[in-house]
Amino acid sequence: MTDKIMIVEDEQALVTILEYNLEKAGYDTVAVSDGKEALDRVEEEDPSLVLLDWMLPKMSGIEICREIRKMPQIGQVPIILLTARSEEQDKVKGLSTGADDYVTKPFSIPELLARIKALLRRVPPKPSVKTLSYADITLDFEKKHVKRGDKLVHLGPTEFKLLACLMSKPQLVFSRENLLKEVWGENIHVELRTVDVHIRRLRRSLNKAGEDFIRTVRSSGYSIDTSSPVAEEKKEECVS
Ligand code: CA
Repeated sequence: MTDKIMIVEDEQALVTILEYNLEKAGYDTVAVSDGKEALDRVEEEDPSLVLLDWMLPKMSGIEICREIRKMPQIGQVPIILLTARSEEQDKVKGLSTGADDYVTKPFSIPELLARIKALLRRVPPKPSVKTLSYADITLDFEKKHVKRGDKLVHLGPTEFKLLACLMSKPQLVFSRENLLKEVWGENIHVELRTVDVHIRRLRRSLNKAGEDFIRTVRSSGYSIDTSSPVAEEKKEECVS
């Protein structure tokens, strides 16, 4: 499958250069010229990566970035911010923009391509299996939904990936480091306790009253396991 790159840029000359070079490098492209259009179309276009200009009419690249990050289906898409002035660079450094990387204009095409390649490598390949099942839980990769029995369970994109990881090997304990690598990717600076935050959210969405399908194994990690009652949790020793 060819990776599609969404270009959000109002400078038509630059769009033309980007489209030409990205397509030459084997990518599909889709270009939009302002933030509103970007937000309207990003989910339906489902790009593998977004190249986002900082200076745009109506909305800044940073605002667009923040809005994309809130979207359930596409929120995790890699984003490269294009900045023009050194002043902007300073701001980018100082802000938590939600972008994965940024490049300063004027940039060289080989450099940009190298950064794109690095980010796309980080995204785990689409799984070859279409669904995973465990107990009454079904996870559907194509429809991007999770059900318990017939009922839909609403999960954020990170919780979805966490659950997919746990369900890929039920009862196996995944360390927080492993989960971080599988779900967030390598070379990304996320603290280990972020894993705990998202596990908590996953529990809240997934569990019915009085049960806990996510087992915490002290100083080791997490697994999905319906066989171990919550009460036994404290007795657990490290398994791996
Ligand atoms: Ca611009």
